[in-house]
Amino acid sequence: MKAEVSRVSKRIKAVKFPLAQDFLKRVAGEQAVVLVKICENKGKRTTDEELAKKMGVKVTEIRTILNRLHYRGIAHYQKTKNKKTGWYNYTWEIRSKRILELLLEEQKEAIEKLKTAQDFEKTYTYFCCKKNCTSVPFEVAAEFQFKCPECNNAMEAVNSEQRVKKIEKQIMSIEKEMQQMQKIM
Ligand SMILES: [Zn+2]
Repeated sequence: MKAEVSRVSKRIKAVKFPLAQDFLKRVAGEQAVVLVKICENKGKRTTDEELAKKMGVKVTEIRTILNRLHYRGIAHYQKTKNKKTGWYNYTWEIRSKRILELLLEEQKEAIEKLKTAQDFEKTYTYFCCKKNCTSVPFEVAAEFQFKCPECNNAMEAVNSEQRVKKIEKQIMSIEKEMQQMQKIM
């Protein structure tokens, strides 16, 4: 276990991917992106104090971010005893590969959901008002007597072809980024 902990992972920079930035923000907050960027650029273990200084935020905030990342297996720490003071020092490392692994897993699911949505679009006719408040299938639109539940304007059948294409674009852009990630892993 110790050998595994002390090995600094291969120099992968996950933070350059927009999907990875989104992911980090979601799991550990806005500042997590900056933190990971600093760690990836440094490529060596670092302390929470050093990160706090570099980012100009409180050490407690850094610890919160690190703990959230640790919970996901992204941040790892090593504990060493300072022989003079008897205190423990913690040095942190970011596992960039883990970020990409989690992300790929998550995005695979996202693509599945988009594909399901796409199938729905192809199978059912949706209705929406001209303001684009919300789109609903025929049965629901009929219940509302074809009046938008939000703005009360008339709802009409939506051209699903455009929406199918839009979803297709989303899927393609995610897949493209995923391929780039897999290449560097
Ligand atoms: Zn509306």
